[in-house]
Amino acid sequence: MVSNKSIGCTVTECKYHAKCEPYCRLNHIDVVKHTHSATTIECTDCGSFEADNK
Ligand code: SF4
Repeated sequence: MVSNKSIGCTVTECKYHAKCEPYCRLNHIDVVKHTHSATTIECTDCGSFEADNK
């Protein structure tokens, strides 16, 4: 899987992170909110995150 230059990401702890570059390797991610109504950046997250258990 090559890095997806359309999805910048700094979450290197994720199994889908490109590691050597600040990008995601997925073709598609789901961005989610974890409050009823999102009002700040903290209310949103990457819903495709999975911990990189190395
Ligand atoms: S799945 Fe989400 S958290 Fe994981 S590398 Fe891709 S954009 Fe970042």
